[in-house]
Amino acid sequence: MPTKSGSYWVAWANAHAKNSNKIFDLTPSFRNKAKDFITALEGAGIKVGVSTTKRSDIRAYLFHWSWMISQGKCKPSDAIQMNGVDIKWDHGDVKKSKAGALAMVTGFGLAVPPRSINPPSMTSNHINGKAIDMTLTWAGTIKVKKKDGTEASLTFMSNVNTNSALHTVGESYGVKKLKTDAPHWSFNGR
Ligand SMILES: [Zn+2]
Repeated sequence: MPTKSGSYWVAWANAHAKNSNKIFDLTPSFRNKAKDFITALEGAGIKVGVSTTKRSDIRAYLFHWSWMISQGKCKPSDAIQMNGVDIKWDHGDVKKSKAGALAMVTGFGLAVPPRSINPPSMTSNHINGKAIDMTLTWAGTIKVKKKDGTEASLTFMSNVNTNSALHTVGESYGVKKLKTDAPHWSFNGR
């Protein structure tokens, strides 16, 4: 018997479909790049706080469709099924279906319009372990080693998205910044 969408699924996902914040869970090719980049940052005295590495595909699925249905971006019956997730998105009543989906959006703490107009992605680089979310903090200007051994001067900026000198250092390790998403770095910058 499928279980209707609602807060049940938030608790279920928190037990069965967790995201990782461990470097080890990244795919090996990207893991080594991220590791080398972080080693260089920490070696320079930068504080690195990793919040997400590999994201669960099941969690991404629950995020995506709860957001879409609750925001009226699709019909409850449009949601696809996923193996291993016995969820009933369509309660047979649009209002109830939307309320069930909204309870999940709230429980997961997802950003909705106007804060975010984009539904959570089901194809993020996090899902295949090729992206990392991290917060980098330091004071003033410091020197960080690039992959080729040369040093770059980095000045702290409160908006990491505009710190192109930092992005260049990351790129030397094959870790590229997505400039619209503060904590997000990946193998291809998306
Ligand atoms: Zn990210």
